Amino acid sequence: MTVTGRFPPWLRKTIVTSVKVAHTRELLSGLRLHTVCQGARCPNQAECFSRKVATFMILGDTCTRGCAFCAVNKGTPAAPDSGEPERVAEAAAVLGLKHVVVTSVTRDDLPDGGAGHFAGTIGLIRKIAPDATIEVLTPDFQGKPESIAEVVAAGPDVFNHNIETVPRLYPTVRPQADFTRSVDFLKKVKELAPGITTKSGLMVGLGESSEEVLNVMRILRSASCDILTIGQYLRPSDVQLPVMEYVLPETYDFYMEKGLSMGFGEVAAGPWVRSSYQAGEVYRKYSLK
Ligand code: SF4
Ligand code: SF4
Repeated sequence: MTVTGRFPPWLRKTIVTSVKVAHTRELLSGLRLHTVCQGARCPNQAECFSRKVATFMILGDTCTRGCAFCAVNKGTPAAPDSGEPERVAEAAAVLGLKHVVVTSVTRDDLPDGGAGHFAGTIGLIRKIAPDATIEVLTPDFQGKPESIAEVVAAGPDVFNHNIETVPRLYPTVRPQADFTRSVDFLKKVKELAPGITTKSGLMVGLGESSEEVLNVMRILRSASCDILTIGQYLRPSDVQLPVMEYVLPETYDFYMEKGLSMGFGEVAAGPWVRSSYQAGEVYRKYSLK
């Protein structure tokens, strides 16, 4: 059954717009950069932009896949912009980011899935904003080992690949993705570079049971995934999948406790948690343990 009407109290948020939010938006548009914050209509945008935090979305703003939960444009993307990696690095330096998160649309049209563009972006951030830690949140590169290896070789601090939902819901939620391929992806990153922190995330409220969520968590741990995020799915517009459940705040506490006992180094779980939400803080907490 779907849920409609007003959000429950724990999902009501006061949106505060400020000069800092406008400044971040202007800077990003001046540098012709896309963010997943805007592309995916993230509900945390005002909060993150007011703290001068954004998640850069490289390889354009048009995705070759059609996940049913996602608001990013779908269609035929333009060729990658060779100046984009440098502009991302420049924006990271101007914003003074201590932790830079870079994601992308899925580029199944490119032979390497855009891995080279990710690697180039990491290299330029290291050069232009050398004090920042770097987190990449990549698509699955269709599981191509050479693409995974190219991004690993560029040396991000955190390699994130979202599992998004439970395997039973893949055909409706992520029809062009594959649960096992995504788990194998995370395994491959660890095999290639055991020192890289791996991370994955799940949305809840799409009709999954808590037993299914726990099962996915166990599978992620068996792939040596280090950090886990769990947050409420919210429908970006009437076009995307409806919300099946508003998950109770205590359920996130339960997942957090279970996750830590399974061996995750850090678990961020809560209604507003997104893969990149407070990513720097989550990584710092993890690395200080
Ligand atoms: Fe952007 Fe992530 Fe913040 Fe959302 S949570 S606004 S995607 S940085
Ligand atoms: Fe959105 Fe990523 Fe799916 Fe593309 S692959 S539709 S960007 S979630």
